[in-house]
Amino acid sequence: MVQKPIPYGRQSITQEDIDEVVKVLQSDFLTQGPKIPEFESLFSDYIGAKYSVAVANGTAALHLAALALNLNKGDKVITTPITFAASANCVLYAGGEVDFVDIDPESYLIDLNQVEDKLKKSKPGTYKCIIPVDFAGYPVRLDKLKELTDKYNCKIIEDACHAPGGYFIDSKGVKQNCGNNNYSDMAIFSFHPVKHIATGEGGMITTNDEQIYKKLTLLRTHGITKDTGLLNENHGGWYYEMVDLGFNYRLTEIQAALGVSQLKKAEKGLKRRTEIALEYSQSFKNSHITTPKVDENLLHAYHLYVVLVEKRAELYNFLAKNSIFSQVHYVPVHLHPYYQKMGWKKGDLPIAENYYNQCLSLPMYPALSNEQQEFVIEKVKEFVNG
Ligand SMILES: *Cc1c(COP(=O)(O)O)cnc(C)c1O
Repeated sequence: MVQKPIPYGRQSITQEDIDEVVKVLQSDFLTQGPKIPEFESLFSDYIGAKYSVAVANGTAALHLAALALNLNKGDKVITTPITFAASANCVLYAGGEVDFVDIDPESYLIDLNQVEDKLKKSKPGTYKCIIPVDFAGYPVRLDKLKELTDKYNCKIIEDACHAPGGYFIDSKGVKQNCGNNNYSDMAIFSFHPVKHIATGEGGMITTNDEQIYKKLTLLRTHGITKDTGLLNENHGGWYYEMVDLGFNYRLTEIQAALGVSQLKKAEKGLKRRTEIALEYSQSFKNSHITTPKVDENLLHAYHLYVVLVEKRAELYNFLAKNSIFSQVHYVPVHLHPYYQKMGWKKGDLPIAENYYNQCLSLPMYPALSNEQQEFVIEKVKEFVNG
């Protein structure tokens, strides 16, 4: 029997999603219409943040977030090597310098103890910002991080691309949704098809700070405004001014309509992801596979289900032969040739590098059927036991 290819992640699009998009195509606005503020408002409600700014993609969200903090040339920013390159690249876009801190070997998140060490050893003001990533959907303990960064006047941009709907319980016992900004300055999300909410391309920045919100909306649309409060002159109803150097990083109405429709199913999708994760974890108990750590005080959003295996390359190839397309998340950012040219090298971040040698993301998305998952489990076991 020829098996239909099973990817590591994919979108779930319903007839309702399609209908909502078609409605926009028949409406007056393809961009800059009512669907954008609707999507932003619903997203703010879902995440529990005050403001949301929809943008063209997650990378644009990171770029604008870095600019909104007024990063200057040479400003240093800390992030994790186990993330998508964009989490670090945004610092370079803004003219800053990236510094990586190694990961925790159990959660695979940036190691907060090593962050503390680095901050302690630095002159005050050296590090302007830190970009923690809720890698795979595992929420970073931002309350603990903020306790550290506050002492050093260092800002926080949470890269929550993997974790919409995830949360942790803070040290006061309060539930804190990923991206709600109670312990950060901004958070960013992506709506790439493999992420929880798909709009094709798309992204969002959340913040609770009105000044930052205003700056983000300005930078999203060329730095051009018609807001009379911001204008230097006013020549009439048509008049606008460019008051900052911005970009065209807008999301379209078509994408926003899809986002609104997708958002309605986000909770259901998250539940399904949790079910799939439980099934994998139970199936791989007592095997030579390391399954993700689960902590009681949080909800893992399971963008990815990452296992560690010794013969990772062989397992990857074996699964591919069976039409199961697992993936590796991620090639450590500091080992990309571009970053190596800046001086980073193998051995700099040994825990991340060791993780990279063993990690494999198994298929994880709400539309994965029980039968498909059983097939994946059977093949993984066949490889490990055979
Ligand atoms: C997907 C992703 C991004 C970038 O989002 P795009 O929408 O693809 O630009 C940034 N950071 C992380 C952790 C991601 O997974």
